[in-house]
Amino acid sequence: MPKNQSSVLVIYTGGTLGMVYDKRKSGLVPFNFSQILAKVPELEHLSCELTVTSLPELIDSSNMKPAIWIQIAEKIVENYANYDGFVILHGTDTMAYTASAISFLLQGLTKPVIFTGAQLPVGAIRNDARRNLVTSIEIASAKDNQLAIVPEVSIFFNDVLLRGNRARKVESSQFDAFQSFNYPPLAKVGIHVKYDLQNILSPPPIFRPTLPLQLNENIGILKLYPGISQKMMESILDTENLKGIVLETYGAGNAPTSQWFLDTLTKALEKNIIVYNVSQCLGGKVQQGRYATGTKLKEMGLIGASDMTTEAAITKMMYLLAQNLPENELKKQLSLSLCGEMSE
Ligand code: ASP
Repeated sequence: MPKNQSSVLVIYTGGTLGMVYDKRKSGLVPFNFSQILAKVPELEHLSCELTVTSLPELIDSSNMKPAIWIQIAEKIVENYANYDGFVILHGTDTMAYTASAISFLLQGLTKPVIFTGAQLPVGAIRNDARRNLVTSIEIASAKDNQLAIVPEVSIFFNDVLLRGNRARKVESSQFDAFQSFNYPPLAKVGIHVKYDLQNILSPPPIFRPTLPLQLNENIGILKLYPGISQKMMESILDTENLKGIVLETYGAGNAPTSQWFLDTLTKALEKNIIVYNVSQCLGGKVQQGRYATGTKLKEMGLIGASDMTTEAAITKMMYLLAQNLPENELKKQLSLSLCGEMSE
């Protein structure tokens, strides 16, 4: 490899980008990466050294689970010293969850970890796979003065680079599958890649992940809707071993004030279940003191998740609950931004 040439590790996990139609299974299924490379000959001309590795089992990301997030994070940690950047090829369906989980597991990155995928497979005549892949590799290898330009977990899709733990999948038919409602893009791509440096995290001097990499899966999501019943709420909050719940509330973090509702939540809090208040709104943030309906929740001990996405909130809880922190410290960390996932 010529001196100064960057090296990028591509980790293939599955997803539409590399899928083909399988008659027997009546749908798209992932295929092997060497077939993908053959379909993108322009990769040969990038001025960076590419290495490709796959997960043991290629999946449609609807089958994603925390154990695979750990496998992805471990692969990055094991190979960290040998590459300048990492590109993860992933299905779009749960990409925002995976990118959020990896951002918490691998806090303090000094190198880029870029997730990408596609709405149409690389083998389709008209597709978004080729440009998403090529540009992600270009961004993963981009350096200024020997330092990575985007040293954080991000999602590159349809010519926009977003912070991974701020992005959401919002579109299943058009190419602009991801948006970040509460944080501006890290870069936009036209003829040139235009980085917005003030939006990109500053790296620490060295990357030191908290080992062992682990997540606690004893959490859940409870979405409020007009008409939610006590039975429905109890069935979720009575789940065995439940340690935390992301409560998707209305607007600025508001919830009903009926006595049965407050009593059901109080019962959960008394069992030391952490309740993290996330808004159902795509933009704006939870402010538990703004309306009387939200003030009550604050008094009860719910933790406001500010402008976080549900994807970030649930994976942040999984990460923090696995650290076995004292309760005060756990609550404090939930209210702080660990890696740019929320505005404080
Ligand atoms: N179902 C696919 C997946 O998430 C969709 C995609 O890749 O866009 O794996």
